[in-house]
Amino acid sequence: MKHYDNYIDGVWTQSETGHNVQNINPATGEILGEVAVSSAHDVDRAVKAAKRAQKSWRLVPAPERAEVLYEVARILKEKKEDLAQILTSEMGKVIAEARGEVQEAIDMAYYMAGEGRRLFGETVPSELRDKFAMSVRVPVGVAGLITPWNFPIAIASWKSLPALVAGNAVVWKPASETPFMAAEFMKVYEEAGLPKGLMNVVFGSGSVVGNALVEHPDVDIISFTGSNEVGRAINGKAGRLLKRTSLEMGGKNAVTVLEDADLDLAVDGIIWSAFGTAGQRCTACSRIIVHEAVKEELEHKLLERVQSLKVGNGADERIDVGPVINKGSLDRIHEYVQTGIGEGAKLLCGGSILNEEDFAKGHYYEPTIFTDVSPHMTIAQKEIFGPVTSIIPVKSLEEAIDVNNSVEFGLSSSVFTKDVNRVFKAMRDFDTGIVYINAGTTGAEIHLPFGGTKGTGNGHRDSGVAALDVYTEWKSVYVDF
Ligand code: GLU
Repeated sequence: MKHYDNYIDGVWTQSETGHNVQNINPATGEILGEVAVSSAHDVDRAVKAAKRAQKSWRLVPAPERAEVLYEVARILKEKKEDLAQILTSEMGKVIAEARGEVQEAIDMAYYMAGEGRRLFGETVPSELRDKFAMSVRVPVGVAGLITPWNFPIAIASWKSLPALVAGNAVVWKPASETPFMAAEFMKVYEEAGLPKGLMNVVFGSGSVVGNALVEHPDVDIISFTGSNEVGRAINGKAGRLLKRTSLEMGGKNAVTVLEDADLDLAVDGIIWSAFGTAGQRCTACSRIIVHEAVKEELEHKLLERVQSLKVGNGADERIDVGPVINKGSLDRIHEYVQTGIGEGAKLLCGGSILNEEDFAKGHYYEPTIFTDVSPHMTIAQKEIFGPVTSIIPVKSLEEAIDVNNSVEFGLSSSVFTKDVNRVFKAMRDFDTGIVYINAGTTGAEIHLPFGGTKGTGNGHRDSGVAALDVYTEWKSVYVDF
């Protein structure tokens, strides 16, 4: 049975509590191993180590720091298949998606390694003679990273790679549900030769380890991806301590299908973004806003496709939709579905927990589509984080934009249309951080900023060049000569 301890100051270290928790495969109920449960004291040790290590790391030329990232990319590439298998076993996403996720971390490592040769500042004309005026990027210091279980290596890579290349040190609290991916990613950094103390992993709960990170006076920035409720609490605490935060707190994303859309293409986009990762993506398509002229035809096509989806253990290559993360999540999803029915929405398909013999030990939910949903219903407003989506009929693009924007989140949105004028109108008026045209709401690429507006986040971005703004501070320098 596998066992992982914390990684602090370059050493795998038992937690102060000496306690461990089991890691369970959501597809089978099998116990995969165990992992340390840490205390605030463990966090303090990790932060002290990070602070010490950062003092010399910030003086290493950025292109040299980037060399470690190239090594990270190379090792990830070498281990891609093994990592994907571990990812599927502890998180449940289907193996093809797990491979895609590891690839995302590889791409991110190459991309951020390249940034080590840029990290541009500005030189501007001084107002005075014989003077240079310029700005340079400097590291923020110690970055506290709190990452979710749905993309255990991709999102960790979006945060840790820019932090490190920009000259920061990291203390990382990975999600309790996916500790093995965190340990494996840490091993990659170790093998790549990252100097000790620069990257530390502390396993444990949000209420103890996450909280200790947020409150620690020597942690200079918190980057968090997770629920809206936790993100708001973090922001409140960090704000009082004048600590920078970068928050990504979910979405209630919609695909809009207009009457001139290629419906087969729209169905592809919807199926993939609503049911990929069993709907457990911040960017999942959990609303389908459809022009009433094509509603019936779209429903028909969707139904046909959903009926062909195979639900099961994602380790089997033939499976399309894997389990959800745990029992609590399964029950919560089902509760939302019951609420939808109670509020008068009509089930087009699905709506049940799968508990026949094949599914007995895992946590599986039927791919579910509601129809005739009105925009104010709970299922059209709340983030469900499961394989459940809702069809909302509208009469025009203008109404679709209003419905799209009528939720508390602002992460991703999409429109299917062949009309270039309506494409640009949607691009301009959807109030989300990401907009797709003729594609579903998922599939963000690492070289563009990822994040959203309103309840989704506070404007700072993961990945893309914008990530460097999160992990650097500007310094303006004036040189008289
Ligand atoms: N990589 C995902 C996508 O764009 C988003 C990550 C998330 O859901 O948190 O599909």
